[in-house]
Amino acid sequence: MTTQVKRKVRHLHHFIGGDYVGSKSGQSFDSFNPATGEVHATVALGGKEEIDQAVAAAKDAFENGPWPRMSMKERCEILRRIGDLILSRKEELAQAETLDTGKPITESLTGDIPRSAQNFHFFSDYAQSLGDEVFTSAPGEKHIVSREPLGVVGLITPWNLPLYLATWKIAPCLAMGNTIVLKPAEWTPYTAFLLADIVSLAGLPKGVLNIVHGLGADSAGEALTRHPDVRAISFTGETGTGRAIMAAASATLKKVSFELGGKGATVIFADADIDEAVETAVRAAYRNQGQICLAGSRLFVEEGVKKEVVDKVLQRVKAIRVGDPTKDITQMGALISKEHLDKVESYLEIGGKEGKLMTGGKRIKELGEGYFLSPSVFCDLPDNSKLIHEEIFGPVLPVVQFSKEEEVLKMVNDSPYGLSASVFSKDVDRCYRMSNGIRTGLVWVNCWFARDLRTPFGGMKSSGVGREGGRYSLEFFSEAKTISYKYKI
Ligand code: NAD
Repeated sequence: MTTQVKRKVRHLHHFIGGDYVGSKSGQSFDSFNPATGEVHATVALGGKEEIDQAVAAAKDAFENGPWPRMSMKERCEILRRIGDLILSRKEELAQAETLDTGKPITESLTGDIPRSAQNFHFFSDYAQSLGDEVFTSAPGEKHIVSREPLGVVGLITPWNLPLYLATWKIAPCLAMGNTIVLKPAEWTPYTAFLLADIVSLAGLPKGVLNIVHGLGADSAGEALTRHPDVRAISFTGETGTGRAIMAAASATLKKVSFELGGKGATVIFADADIDEAVETAVRAAYRNQGQICLAGSRLFVEEGVKKEVVDKVLQRVKAIRVGDPTKDITQMGALISKEHLDKVESYLEIGGKEGKLMTGGKRIKELGEGYFLSPSVFCDLPDNSKLIHEEIFGPVLPVVQFSKEEEVLKMVNDSPYGLSASVFSKDVDRCYRMSNGIRTGLVWVNCWFARDLRTPFGGMKSSGVGREGGRYSLEFFSEAKTISYKYKI
């Protein structure tokens, strides 16, 4: 006799005006656990009606509520409490993030969730350190430049780092006194749902943060980008979605900030510390199952060390433990969805025909119905291979050989994207020339993903519009106003 284990399926609601509400239509959609393929939650399916309701709540909170009228210090105290509460519920949030995304629990526990708390703590401190600017151009004349909130702001976020990237926008947006409608990615609604409880406990006034779950095009996401009462859209996601949002937002002339796709390059010169470079290149390629905009998803290696680097990369990649993301020993979990797995496998098929598969690239059927794929490395691909030029967003690493600095610089820049790159060499002059010549918003020298939250984060070309981080975020989420005084002396 077989015993059927009945699994708990949660129901996740919208959060509008401080209340949890369902959709007017009563419709919902399923949220899947990528590690098992099972439904773990049903989620209220929002559309234009729920966006209208949430924007009205946010507008009322902005026009009639205390939030924009509070001092920066008072607002930042609430931000700090939100950060503290995230840390105090780290385990619960990490489990929710792993359940929704399929990422290893250690990554959720040591990466995503602490960073989400840090986003609030950082902006709580940083926003208070900024003040008005005053210019005195002549005796009896002063020009004061201050920053005002925009009003209602729409935030649209992706599934790869759900709470981390949502809070990276929410914290600075709140600090500047705005009110928010957040549309989280439909694949990963769970931690945004839990955040609603946290902001209420922290004392955020009702209607300041509203969360509507739903889809993107022709649904809640698009309705937000078209709403006349939304003053700005901050979006992180695919480049194609960014184009659609820019077009939709143009009708009401919204301010936009976009963090989009990437095709990061890792460049290893022969004079680099090879072990350190390989260790970093492997981390950059496969962290979060390769589903990171900053992933080093093209590896360029100088010809003299190609064999040594490839051998060492293979040794490390074969040792990556792919498996149940809830286990501490797991280093790589499941891809986000069946659709995404199919997309990544379509690249593996191309790679197998065009070049040489050195390891991996197989569905791991022993792990059940989850979307598991072994990490792969390809060599000998043609220069125009899609694996080298397109964003795959999966655990696939093409290796390309080069012989000269000018040649590799050209190859790195031969991309529609311009988000990030890493250069490994002990030659300081070469590192300077390369980092100066690479057309990306972020260049790491002898490292990857080293961050200071005060610095601008974002991409050139098809990787984005605008920058996030430090004052760049605070400036986006506010209007500059100049007030000029004449007075008698
Ligand atoms: P996506 O563009 O498919 O979806 C992101 C969000 O946009 C979701 O909430 C979705 O519902 C919404 N959306 C989709 N179509 C919309 C529309 N027409 N109008 C309004 N909203 C719409 O992206 P994804 O698949 O969730 O995320 C992966 C992508 O995000 C990759 O390309 C990755 O590089 C990029 N990304 C970039 C950064 C960065 O900082 N540059 C960070 C993380 C992810």
